[in-house]
Order: sequence, then C-alpha cells, then structure tokens
Amino acid sequence: MPKFAFPPHPPVSVSIAGSDERFPVHRIYCVGRNYAAHAREMGKDPTREPPFFFTKPADAIVQNGETVSYPQRTEDFHHEIELVVALGHGGRDLSLDQTLPCVFGYAVGNDYTRRDLQLEARDKGRPWDTGKAFDHSAAIAAIRPAAQGHIDHGRIWLTVNGETRQQGDIKDLIWSVPEIIAELSALFELKAGDLIYTGTPAGVGAVKRGDRVEGGVEGLENLVNVIG
Ligand code: MN
Repeated sequence: MPKFAFPPHPPVSVSIAGSDERFPVHRIYCVGRNYAAHAREMGKDPTREPPFFFTKPADAIVQNGETVSYPQRTEDFHHEIELVVALGHGGRDLSLDQTLPCVFGYAVGNDYTRRDLQLEARDKGRPWDTGKAFDHSAAIAAIRPAAQGHIDHGRIWLTVNGETRQQGDIKDLIWSVPEIIAELSALFELKAGDLIYTGTPAGVGAVKRGDRVEGGVEGLENLVNVIG
C-alpha cells in the first residue's frame, strides 16, 4: 500500500437488487440524444446527427431515496429519466455479439442537468461538464442482474409530484444497448464497474426544491429522489 498524504476518497458503489453485495462504480458514460422525440425537443434533427457520448465523475452518484441537492449557478435544473447499463466485464473494439455478455445488470437512473449551463456550452462550442458533470447529478436505483434477463423494450416514465412528465419505450432507443456498448468500446477501454446512462425520452423539464421525482423502467426498481 502506498502511503497517502491524506485518506483517499472511499469507492462509490450502487446497491444490487436481491444481494448484500454492492456494485463498485468505475466510470459513468452517458449517451446524448438517443431518442428521436427528445432530440427534436432539444431543437435537433435525429436523422442528421447520430447520438454521442459525454461523461460524469463516479462520485456524482446519488442513491435511491437520497435527497438531490439543488445545484449552484442554475435556474433551469432538469430531470432526465434513463435506462442505465452496468458492466461486469469490459474490453476494446467489441463486436455486437460480444456486448451483452459484458452487461452485469440494468438500473433506472436520472441524468440531472443544469440545462441553462448545458445549452450555453452547446451553443458556444464549449465542453458540457458544468451542465452535466456536477455534484449529485447521477441518481440511480438498485441494479437488477442481467441473469434475470436483458432489457430491449418496456415502458420508461417519470413523474414530478405524481404528475407524468416523461413517457417512452426502451424499444425506441436510436442506438440499442449492444450498439451503445460497441460504439463506446471503439472510443474507450470499457471496464467492470462502468455505468452507461443510455439517454432520455421526450418530456424533460425543470424541477424545484421540494419536488418529489419518481421514475421507472418496466421490470426494474423505481427511482425516487426529493430535490433539496
Ligand atoms: Mn441524458
């Protein structure tokens, strides 16, 4: 063991449904504009621009039931409900048929976004970090092991204070889960512990302090967070 100048930060982990073991998080990758209706609501033409990737730091994770702190420097703090893929194996330049064996499981996530900062960065050609990769920006519920089945369809939804805001179906992903993993592995060496937020359906919008944000994907544990 090296002698550290101060104690290293503890590893970030996520609960696993039906297990007392936890999933240790390595990196968080996210897919942008992976549902056509959401690409259009963001003012983009999904037939002209394919989806793309961005990242969040591992310590942006917020557990199911924890309060999401309303972040600094925004007046337009948005929810984005997403299917999250958790990897148990990785690799580089994976072929499509090598991808699903890498999947450890699936979870419901919320890609919280400072929309005003993200759009300013987008329109000025700047990085998205301040809009996307801030503290407490990656909420996630328990991971359901892939042994219980892979997910390629099913309802995805989000409510704020019980009112439906987002609705879609996983079958409408522009890049499917195998396509996302194959694409990503051509850009980065994927590793066990990586999480991939696969994109959000239409209906993104602002939340305020005190709001109760609940979302789900058919077959997975619902994710509930209150904005604090
Ligand atoms: Mn997103």
